[in-house]
Amino acid sequence: MQSSLTQINPRNEEEEKKIILREYRALLRALKLSLKKGDKRLLRRAFEISVDAHKDMRRKSGEPYILHPLAVARIVVEEIGLGVTSAICALLHDTVEDTEITLEDIEQEFGVAYMKIIDGLTKISNVVDLKADTTVQAENFRKILLTLADDPRVILIKLADRLHNMRTLDSMSREKQLKISSETTYIYSPLAHRLGLYEIKSELEDLALKFTQPEVYTEIAKGLKETKRDRTRYINEFIKPIKEELTAGGFDFELYGRPKAIHSIWNKMRTKHVSFEEVFDLFAIRVILHSKPEKEKEDCWKVYSIVTNFYRPSPDRLRDWISVPKSNGYEALHTTVMGPGGRWVEVQIRTSRMNEIAEKGLAAHWKYKEGGTSQQESKLDAWLHHLRDMLSNPDTDTLDFLQDFKLDLFTEEIYIYTPKGDMRVLPKSATALDFAFDIHSELGARCIGAKVNYRLVPISHQLASGDQVEIITSSKQKPSEDWLSFVTTAKAKSRIKYYLKEEKRKIGDDGKAILQRKMEHLGLTISPYNLNELCVFYKKPSLLDLYYAVAVDSVDLRELKQLTIIGDKLIQPIKESKPELKNTPDEIKPVKPAKGAELIIFGESSDKIKYKLAQCCQPIPGDDVFGFVTTGEGLKIHRTDCPNAAQLLANYGHRVVKTKWAKNKEISFLSGVRITGLDDVGVIQKITHIISGELKMNMRSLSIDSKDGIFEGTIMVYVHDREELDGLCQELGSLKGITKVERLEAHEE
Ligand code: MN
Repeated sequence: MQSSLTQINPRNEEEEKKIILREYRALLRALKLSLKKGDKRLLRRAFEISVDAHKDMRRKSGEPYILHPLAVARIVVEEIGLGVTSAICALLHDTVEDTEITLEDIEQEFGVAYMKIIDGLTKISNVVDLKADTTVQAENFRKILLTLADDPRVILIKLADRLHNMRTLDSMSREKQLKISSETTYIYSPLAHRLGLYEIKSELEDLALKFTQPEVYTEIAKGLKETKRDRTRYINEFIKPIKEELTAGGFDFELYGRPKAIHSIWNKMRTKHVSFEEVFDLFAIRVILHSKPEKEKEDCWKVYSIVTNFYRPSPDRLRDWISVPKSNGYEALHTTVMGPGGRWVEVQIRTSRMNEIAEKGLAAHWKYKEGGTSQQESKLDAWLHHLRDMLSNPDTDTLDFLQDFKLDLFTEEIYIYTPKGDMRVLPKSATALDFAFDIHSELGARCIGAKVNYRLVPISHQLASGDQVEIITSSKQKPSEDWLSFVTTAKAKSRIKYYLKEEKRKIGDDGKAILQRKMEHLGLTISPYNLNELCVFYKKPSLLDLYYAVAVDSVDLRELKQLTIIGDKLIQPIKESKPELKNTPDEIKPVKPAKGAELIIFGESSDKIKYKLAQCCQPIPGDDVFGFVTTGEGLKIHRTDCPNAAQLLANYGHRVVKTKWAKNKEISFLSGVRITGLDDVGVIQKITHIISGELKMNMRSLSIDSKDGIFEGTIMVYVHDREELDGLCQELGSLKGITKVERLEAHEE
């Protein structure tokens, strides 16, 4: 974390010393039970070194910098459940990065084990490097994952660091807030999820939402507050009979209702297209049993039986993660039952041991490793092993790999059996081919089909939990491009890509020879500069792609005549610039971004810059936006809540330009709204009256689908800004019979 250097105000110095000492004592208290002889001295030493090293530094909020490492150390101990070694490393985590302290100092003072952890932490702290290019950043993510495979404590401390930074993000600039939040959703919360740190993952996502979409966040938080009374009443009514029955049965338990995280409510609203009021499962009921180790499973099922005696369960919503825990170690019984008033309620049943694993994930695992079942341990180890395996493959394209790997982090799991009865864990929607690659890359590459439960299926067949799968191979088989369209695991994807690339390279060799002959013929030097210009000219992302295209004849080498040669250098032909905005019909004056001043770009240059509005989120003035410098198409404007924003901001931070709308009412932008309502004869007429009559807006299209008395319509309309669009939504919403009006995301037309 960077911080500004300012002088300590002498007036507050005493006061600040007190606060710092208080925080340190709180850390000591948190560690108390686990402190062994000598630990305390070591911790004290780390504290002193860190205080001294950071003594002239302050955080953006103005507080002494040392409060940050102290807070991180407390999170590491109290919320992740790690011990004194990790606390010491947390105290020192920013020293090598930001102060005079060196790794050698750490090694001398604390030993090589500590030095290695600090080294890992220092290496991954540079992910937030605005100047780094894409490959460097992807490489950094890879480093994060490598350290994870090496010593998981590094990434756990890093997560604590990130959590504290997110908790104190208020004092950062808007730009930093967006960047750090995006990075958090992009890599850190999926990692927290994968490591089983559900509490931390949830908080990270809520905080990220708070900073990327403050309006959404406040609206939901407000909604939760307003409905709290009703919810409490309902929860009490729901748990009363269960409580009585459990007490009568002699159980030692806790039973409570818990509101769901704001981001998960938001996800539901977004994916199901419902309003806050329409999200029913705003909370879950949790039963925590303090059972003896040998009684755990039995007790949980007894409670399940009691709950379902009172409330009817939804048959397809029972999840038994006790018999087969998730691979991140999560154990619990989940069921959804019909509560009073016909509302579906999710009930989670687990023991206090399982609960600790659910909250502290990986770290809690180690704690129970000695006494616990070895099956879970080996599963987690197997995952780490698998990770190490993939990362050590030098041919994997890092950026690609990360995209695929990230998907793996979040998906639900299914359990598949080999013909011998061994179990493999695969992500949901995995295919027979994924399974083959999971077992062995060669098996995947030669796979021509499979037998699922003795029935013959194609390689693209999606597997279901409990399937027994036998892979059928042929020595003639070769991976092909279309395989990528149905496999879902990162391993299968990266292996297939690797095979295809190899294949391409072989073919590309021919193309290389052809191209070189042609260049020599034209008197062109075969220099890296010229080759790069040729890639640009033929719009190929890499030389390999260019060679391949030449070999398979998909580019016309005669077009080379359009290029100018000056000296031994190639010069690109000048192209006419085309209108930048698509979808602009003739009757509307085309938008000429180069001329208009509707966007102000804050950057080195105050000149008007050409831009395009991203098709994925179709921003209009008034939306919170950012500019993104693309490789071929100039600047693209995205909404900060665009589905692609997180990925772009996190991976290509250096290409992001701060962008703001200027006040300009002359240009219109195409935007869409979706309306739902009761079918009524006059409805179309009423809608068009509002748009064209009252509001005098320019409508491009209106399409209505009606079914069983309900209609759903999409209206495409030209508006000047967000305000106008919101006004339109309001007007339409007030029409009789209209139940919902919402802005359309792109590509839904
Ligand atoms: Mn830090």
